[in-house]
Amino acid sequence: MRITNKGMMDWFGMFPSSTFADGQCHLIAGMANTGVIETEEGLVLFDLPMKQYGKRLFREIREITNKRVKYIIYSHGHFDHCFAYEPFIKEITESGWEMPQVIAHENCIKRFEKYRMLDKYHEWLNKQQFASMGIGRQKALVSAHNTLNPTIIMKGDDPYTFKLGECSFELYHDIGETDDSIWLWVPEKKLICAGDLFVSSFPNVGNPYKVQRYPKDWAIAMEKMMAKNAEYLVPGHGPLIEGIDRVKEAFSITADAMRFVHYEVVKRMNEGKWFEQIYHEMLEIYPDKFKNHHFLREMYGCYRFAIHATYRLYHGWYNSGNPTNLFPAKSKDIAKEFLKINSEEKYLEHAKSLYNEDKLQLALHILDVIINGIDNNENNILLEALRLKARILKLQSKTEPSFIAANIIDNAAYQIKSNIKKIEKN
Ligand SMILES: [Zn+2]
Repeated sequence: MRITNKGMMDWFGMFPSSTFADGQCHLIAGMANTGVIETEEGLVLFDLPMKQYGKRLFREIREITNKRVKYIIYSHGHFDHCFAYEPFIKEITESGWEMPQVIAHENCIKRFEKYRMLDKYHEWLNKQQFASMGIGRQKALVSAHNTLNPTIIMKGDDPYTFKLGECSFELYHDIGETDDSIWLWVPEKKLICAGDLFVSSFPNVGNPYKVQRYPKDWAIAMEKMMAKNAEYLVPGHGPLIEGIDRVKEAFSITADAMRFVHYEVVKRMNEGKWFEQIYHEMLEIYPDKFKNHHFLREMYGCYRFAIHATYRLYHGWYNSGNPTNLFPAKSKDIAKEFLKINSEEKYLEHAKSLYNEDKLQLALHILDVIINGIDNNENNILLEALRLKARILKLQSKTEPSFIAANIIDNAAYQIKSNIKKIEKN
């Protein structure tokens, strides 16, 4: 697996689990984390990670305690938060125990249905997004055809509270990364389990493949969690965050960043600006206090994606203000016309000079004229253009901090190289 930095190692749960509060609370590291709260009457599990982490999670919990699992809470329906249930169900069935209550928001059930409807699309999407995990290029990471379905369903914005043993469990619904998010507050333990409402990095608020996410509501969710004055924060991904001040800092800087992106994009929309102008202006004004902050490292999501997310929240797909783009011709046909004005040799020469000047992005745009405009695979200029594009993408992916962006770029380079090999074979 190609993991770009320590932050991503944490994101995949490659750090030691921890026990905290009075020794009755645990963060079991995984993709994603599981919050375990021991009570006199049994266990509450907040999130079950990706299916592949199930055995490891089960083993770690059973090394700590043999108490029965009484409640399972899904922070949201993403595949890395509610699919590692098999070892627990096996244990319950074999022991003849009562099945646990499973709590989720009503939108989680709609999410599972959507995953089943868009099964093949999601398989493809995950292969792109997680390409560097190796398995992504060969087989499906997950499928929602089998799920452990909720028995207690939270509706709308209504909170849900229950007691188990000496603890009370307060569950709240907010929206941020998803529309089915639940976070947990355990007052007796001063503990918040946030799911992916907090992921120890810049929030994954504008994932290029995924449906709409909610920057301003995300800030509201973090401000509500901050108001609890928790001493412990179990994030969806990454190690335990401890201490009232540290937890407060985590929520406040992330909420501020979400409010900043939201405010600045909305302001520019009201000034009559189109997406391109807003995007490039936003890149110029990103404050250093966010850029260099530990809790806003762009290891998974990133600021650039957040600009898209905010704009898309309020705007239709016509985002250029140029009617040429309203009903555009095929990019192949456009490129062919450019090649009538000037030869592919000229374009390649120009792309190379841009590459040599380190203007990589501009070089890509010029190379696309050749790649889109030439149908004949045996054309040597086309092959050279493809090779240069693959080289540029490789370079870009190496310096790209966001795991998602790096995977998109790196996977494209891999596909171009495979195409070149195929052409060379023939
Ligand atoms: Zn997650």
